[in-house]
Amino acid sequence: MDILIATSNPGKLREYQALLSELNLTFLSLRDVNVNLDVPEPYETFTENAEHKAREYAKLTGMVTLTDDSGLVVDALGGRPGVYSARYAPGTDADRYTKLLEELVGVPEEGRTARFVCAAALAAGDGSLIDLQVGTVEGKIAFAPGDGANGFGFDPVFIPNGFDVTLNALTMDEKNAIDHRGNALRLLIPTLRKIT
Ligand code: IMP
Repeated sequence: MDILIATSNPGKLREYQALLSELNLTFLSLRDVNVNLDVPEPYETFTENAEHKAREYAKLTGMVTLTDDSGLVVDALGGRPGVYSARYAPGTDADRYTKLLEELVGVPEEGRTARFVCAAALAAGDGSLIDLQVGTVEGKIAFAPGDGANGFGFDPVFIPNGFDVTLNALTMDEKNAIDHRGNALRLLIPTLRKIT
C-alpha cells in the first residue's frame, strides 16, 4: 500500500523509513506526489497540529497520510520553543540551537531538563483521522553542542536520560530506539498493520 509521509524535513523522512521498514508499505514524500503546499501548523498543541496536517494533506492527495508535529520542550523556558521549535530562530539548525544555549546561559545542570515530543497522526484518503499517538524522550540540554554527525534540529544539544552524549552522536537505529518519533510511531504500528 502507498502511504504519504507528509513532511518536507529530510531528517524526519529518513527516521520514518527506518522505523516503519518492517511494514509492507511504499513511502511517498510530498515531493514524490508533487505537493508543494506547506500546510500551516496554526495550533498551540502538538496533537492539534498533527491532526490538522494529516487531514489536510490526505484531503489534498486522497492518500493515506502519516505526519507529525514535534518539537523540544524546555522546562527552564516555560516549555518553549515547543510547537514553535522549527520557527524558534531564522537560519539554520545551528542558529536555532545556538540561540537555545544562549537563553540557558547561567542555568545549572539540574535546571536544564527538557523533552522532545512527537504527535504522530494517521489520516485516511477521505481526510478522516484514523489514529493519533504521542511519544516523548526525556533529557537535558547540554552546555555546548556535542560531537557527532548524525541527526538534525536540536539533536546536538540534547542529552537523553541514561546517556552521556548528545543525540547526534547516536546512530539512527540507536536514536530511533529511544526517541519521541520512534515512541509515537511504535504506538501507531498496530493500526498501520490493520490497514495494510
Ligand atoms: P515541525 O516540522 O513543526 O514538527 O518542527 C519540528 C522541529 O522540532 C524541527 O525543525 C526541529 O527543530 C525540532 N525537532 C523535532 N524532532 C526533532 C528531533 O528528532 N531531533 C532534533 N530536533 C527535532
